Amino acid sequence: MKLLVTGGAGYVGSVCAARLHESGHEVVVVDDLSTGHADAVPDGCRFVQADIAESAAALLAEGFDGVLHFAAKSLVGESMQDPSKYWWGNVVTTLALLEAMRTHRTPRLVFSSTAAVYGEPDTVPIPESAATRPTNTYGATKLAIDQAITSYATAYGMAATSLRYFNVAGAYGAFGERHTVETHLIPIVLQVALGLREQVQMFGDDWPTEDGTCVRDYIHVTDLADAHLLALEQAQPNQHGIYNLGNGTGFSVKQVVDACREVTGHPIPALVAPRREGDPASLVAASTRAQQELGWQPVRSQLSRIVIDAWEFARARQ
Ligand code: UDP
Repeated sequence: MKLLVTGGAGYVGSVCAARLHESGHEVVVVDDLSTGHADAVPDGCRFVQADIAESAAALLAEGFDGVLHFAAKSLVGESMQDPSKYWWGNVVTTLALLEAMRTHRTPRLVFSSTAAVYGEPDTVPIPESAATRPTNTYGATKLAIDQAITSYATAYGMAATSLRYFNVAGAYGAFGERHTVETHLIPIVLQVALGLREQVQMFGDDWPTEDGTCVRDYIHVTDLADAHLLALEQAQPNQHGIYNLGNGTGFSVKQVVDACREVTGHPIPALVAPRREGDPASLVAASTRAQQELGWQPVRSQLSRIVIDAWEFARARQ
């Protein structure tokens, strides 16, 4: 297939672009490099540096079999302080992309949605049928896009899939997480092991969890990429499939820090800090729908595997 990958210079987008290219697809990456890196675009993929809203129509006029839409603003804290950047950058940009797909009859879409659409869950593990009550603007914009995709797919015949990511981590060789402003737990902890930070702050140890620290569902980025390939192959016209992607196993902040100590051999000093605003105690995916309907199976679900791959990537970049 000829595929347009938006945000293919970013973390998840570059890993997926690499896997799509290796699977024999023709990949065109479009990215404005606002947070991505030109050297993260995999070899063999054509790269167009452009604003997606401005360039989507001209690009899709070439004729594409599908779009994988990764490009997004994705910092929860920033989304609360500067919501305009998120409503315009995520929702308006995606509407422009959807319009271009409609005009040029692009048949397939895979969209990077998020567990943040659920907000504070009533039950854990979280199924796709859970109530969607996002507690931050980032999650609200992703939910609005999911809803727009449902109407576009139903009315205009697209085969669409939204993949709701839980905590994506790990790396794929030279492709990994390299945010200018790092907020995610595993890369922050590894920065301590690299000597780039003194210590890690654990946001709260009085949560209603087994060891008092927050529990999250960490999914290896290559398992995530596999789900995108399956979604592309299996989506049906006029339908919008929505799938959670996680390992179905939760790990606490303390368990993550311990796993990083074991993998790196570094003592990694960790302090207990106040809770971070907006953090739910525990977020774990029920991913049975993706397993049953897409035939997806996470194969790198061990926390040690995720940390080893993230560590190799982080060390190689030093
Ligand atoms: N966390 C932490 N210290 C940090 C960064 C994150 O204790 O420096 C915690 C955070 O409160 C959450 C978990 O680690 O419980 C995962 O946070 P992250 O930002 O990686 O992902 P999120 O779950 O917020 O999407």
